[in-house]
This record gives sequence, C-alpha cells and structure tokens, in this order.
Amino acid sequence: MNASPRQEGHGISLWQAISSNGRDWPALHGGICVDLAIIGAGFTGLSTALHTAEKGLSVAVLEAEQVAWGATGRNAGFVVPNFAKRDPNDIVAQLGPDRGERLVDFAAGSADLVFGLIKRHGIECDAVRNGWIQPAHSPAALEKTKSRATQWASRGRPAVALDDKSVTELTGVRGYAGGWMDRSGGVLNPVEYARGLADAAETAGARIFEHTRVSSIGRIGDEWLLKTVSGEVSAGKVLVATNAYGGALNRTLARTYVPLKVFQIATAPLPRETRARFLPGGQGFGDTRRNLFTLRLDKENRLISGGMHIVGIGAEHRVPLAIWRRLARELELKDPPPLQFSWSGLAAIEPDFLPRLVDLGPGLIAGFACNGRGIAMTTAMGKVLADWASGADARDLPLPFAPPSPIPFHAMVRYAPNAMLPWSLLRDRLER
Ligand SMILES: Cc1cc2nc3c(=O)[nH]c(=O)nc-3n(C[C@H](O)[C@H](O)[C@H](O)COP(=O)(O)OP(=O)(O)OC[C@H]3O[C@@H](n4cnc5c(N)ncnc54)[C@H](O)[C@@H]3O)c2cc1C
Repeated sequence: MNASPRQEGHGISLWQAISSNGRDWPALHGGICVDLAIIGAGFTGLSTALHTAEKGLSVAVLEAEQVAWGATGRNAGFVVPNFAKRDPNDIVAQLGPDRGERLVDFAAGSADLVFGLIKRHGIECDAVRNGWIQPAHSPAALEKTKSRATQWASRGRPAVALDDKSVTELTGVRGYAGGWMDRSGGVLNPVEYARGLADAAETAGARIFEHTRVSSIGRIGDEWLLKTVSGEVSAGKVLVATNAYGGALNRTLARTYVPLKVFQIATAPLPRETRARFLPGGQGFGDTRRNLFTLRLDKENRLISGGMHIVGIGAEHRVPLAIWRRLARELELKDPPPLQFSWSGLAAIEPDFLPRLVDLGPGLIAGFACNGRGIAMTTAMGKVLADWASGADARDLPLPFAPPSPIPFHAMVRYAPNAMLPWSLLRDRLER
C-alpha cells in the first residue's frame, strides 16, 4: 500500500474543486428593505430564499463568505430522507401522534423534494437517485435496521430490509450482517446543487449577497435591522441559517448544538476494472457503527469517505491519512488509489438528533436541520419556512419550534463526540 499518498486538494473540498457553475454574487453596499432577510447561503438559506421568492415576497440572502462555503460545500453529497439515530416510532412516542407523524412525513418526503427541484430547475449536479443504504455492522444493529425499514415501509416509503448477501452485492464490501435501503435517497454534487438553488432563487426574484457578514441583529419598531460592514438590511422577518458557523452572531444560539468537525477524503479515480466492484448501482452508504463508515463514488470514480478526529490524539493533519487507510482496509484494496482531496466541515448536532426551529423573537427564527442529514432536511426546511415567511404561524409548521435551550456545560460537551471516539471504536469492534 502507498503509505504517503499525494494530496492535491488538501483543504478545499472535492466539490469546490470540480464544480463548474462558479459565478460570484456582489457584496451588499448601502441599505435595502425586504420582507425576509436570510443570514447564510447554505442549503437552508437558499431553499428558503427560493421558496419564499416564488411566493412573491422580497428576499435577501446575506452570506459572510460565498454561496455553499459552509457545511453545504463540504459534505459527502448523500441525500438521506430519514433521521440520524432516530426512528419514526420513537419520534411519534416523543412528540405525540400528530406532531410526531408530521415530522416523520416531513423527513420522508425530503428526498422527493430535492430531486424534484433538481428536475424542475434543471440543476446539473450529477444527481443519481438509486437509493441510500445503511449496512448493519452487528446482529443487534441488523435487528434495528430491519425494524427501521419496516417502520418507514409501513408509512408508504420505498424502504427495504437487506440481507448480508444483498448488502455485499450492492456495496462491494464484505462483513456486514445485512442492512436496509431507502430507494428514494441518492447522491449528488452538493456545491453544484447549492449553486443551482442560488440561481433558481435569483431567477425567482431573491437577491444574494456574498462577502457580506452580518455583524448585528437589532429591532427598530416592527422591523429587524441587520448590519454589515458596508450596508444594512431592514426586514419584516429574519431567518438565521448559519448552522454550526454562526458563532459570534448569537452566543446563546451557539450553545444549543454541538459543532462536530467531520473530515472527508476523495481518492484519485479508480481504474475501470476496480470501479465495477464498489456500489455498481451508484448508491451511497453510511453504516450503523458509532464511528460510521461511509462510501460513495463521484462521476469520475473517485472513492469518497469520511470520519472524525480524536481530540488530543495525533495532529489533525493526520486524520485524512487515517481515513484513507481505513478505506483501503474496509474495501480490501491492496493497492488503493492515492489520496487526492481532503477537507473538513462543521456539522451542527442537536441533542435529540432532530431538526428544529429556534424562536429568537417576533419574526426572528433560526433553523437547524443537520445531524448529518442536512441536504434533504434543510431543503425541506426551506419550503416550510417559506410558509412562515408568508404568514403561517411557526407553531403550525411540522418542525419542533421553541426558544433557545442552551446545552448545560456546553464548553465541555461540544468536545464529547470527538473525545468519546476511542470508546466508540472499541464498542464497534466488540459488537462485530
Ligand atoms: C463533512 C460533512 C459531511 C456531511 N455529509 C452530509 C451528507 O452526505 N448528507 C447530508 O444530508 N448532510 C451531510 N452533512 C450535513 C450538511 O452538510 C449540513 O446539514 C448542511 O449543509 C447545512 O446547511 P446550512 O445551510 O444549514 O448551513 P451551512 O451550509 O453550514 O451554511 C451556513 C452559512 O452561514 C454563513 N454565515 C455564518 N455566519 C454568518 C454571518 N454572521 N453573516 C452571514 N453569513 C454567515 C456561513 O459562511 C455559511 O456559508 C455533512 C456535514 C459535514 C460537515
């Protein structure tokens, strides 16, 4: 095995490097007045802008860096219409039959919405919709995935349980006990998808400003006033769509989620004869391990995988190499293609792993829908937030809506997932 692989794209995401639609939007100079101001141009902000502008409202999106600069441009591109670590029945048990089933429905239709938007707006983003697979790493996990498939199928979703042989055939990876697949999921190039949403939002009338960091949110009469270095926006309603990158803008909000640093790698393209071995149907997968193993390929047949960093153990720059070695091991590749890209991003993890809307004041909302399921969930969140922007009561939307609830001991808890990683690794191994 090549022990010191080449790293051409260290730091910038594969998607940023290979995406074609690279247009720039201007920075805001001067003052404007809109119905809805959106802070952050990731999937949440862009989907909300598109759906709100389509309803005829005036919308401005203010982005500190560039469109898709945050987690949106750094993720793996899996379109996953279900919840990380949560199942429909337990959500219904937690939220009650009405609110629970509405949230489950919201997630269930989220991939339909993504692929529908791609079709409707002609977004070229290498979308492949052949399903998303979750292989089970142990007998206990297999029972969970069987139940998961049954729960989604009983709600009319195209969910199927898979035995060990089917998982090996579909993924090309051996050793799994079985798993399940949601056929409505898929993969795409997230940067091209986001840029396509931005173009569609602009065509619908939204204004997008890059290099426009919002430094403060204030209230003047019935309006909100957002200040940036070279301009200001007066708005009837404001959506904070800054995900795990909002930091200094609202410190209370920053304590309501755990910002999880996740690394991604992409290899050089696989030779054609090896490519046929892995995910021949073009799906993507993320298994049931605590330190989950993910895999997909891009259109040029690069292998793409990811992982976390163990706090205090080794330097961060070694993480991509560790993920690359794991990839070679899991795929039993004696001569793995060299590492070509490595990058990282922040995912906002909610304590209950559910998407949520945070009530920050009259007409001021923050939306979080990440938990590693952001592409589908944030897009769907944008659609319901457009209803709120045009007059619906936030309490009537299908998502939990509550004032900020800071996580106790956040300064320590925020490091918990990384600090717990060695323990997670051990438990994953013992269960197998
Ligand atoms: C490595 C990684 C892999 C992932 N893989 C997947 C996957 O395969 N599938 C999936 O569904 N989800 C995945 N996710 C989650 C998904 O990427 C996110 O849920 C989603 O992109 C969040 O979108 P967002 O619009 O809410 O936030 P972001 O995309 O993070 O955007 C927030 C934006 O706010 C801007 N901002 C912050 N502060 C300000 C300010 N003061 N003024 C103006 N702008 C500001 C930032 O610059 C940023 O662009 C992954 C996440 C990571 C980190």
